[in-house]
Amino acid sequence: MEPEKPCPFCGETIRTEAIVCKHCRTNVVSALQKKEGRFVKVRVKTRDKVYHGDLFIPHYFHRVSDVINDERPFLSLANTSEQTKASEIYIGFLAVNKAVIEWVRLLEEKPKSEKEDQVSYEIYTAS
Ligand SMILES: [Zn+2]
Repeated sequence: MEPEKPCPFCGETIRTEAIVCKHCRTNVVSALQKKEGRFVKVRVKTRDKVYHGDLFIPHYFHRVSDVINDERPFLSLANTSEQTKASEIYIGFLAVNKAVIEWVRLLEEKPKSEKEDQVSYEIYTAS
């Protein structure tokens, strides 16, 4: 017997490892990833190293600090590279023990204020 689960989009039964639902053709894997959160670029300083990577913020969290302050002992980074004075070494996925982190900096923020400016500008010119 194959393990099965309901498709989260159409409710029809699909195989657990299915990537695309055979009923509604939704890419279940990528659609769920989009639904569950977003990545932000961060720089993480541990006692002896500095890392650049993508930090996953689940949809139920709003800020990077929520992830840092949750009860899980590790901070998970994707597309990570280790920064040294001479070079940058790509290491891919990395889980950093929060106990050795000295600071975390956000490298990329959503340009929210810029978008808001644009919206108000458009409204202004239209009237
Ligand atoms: Zn489906």
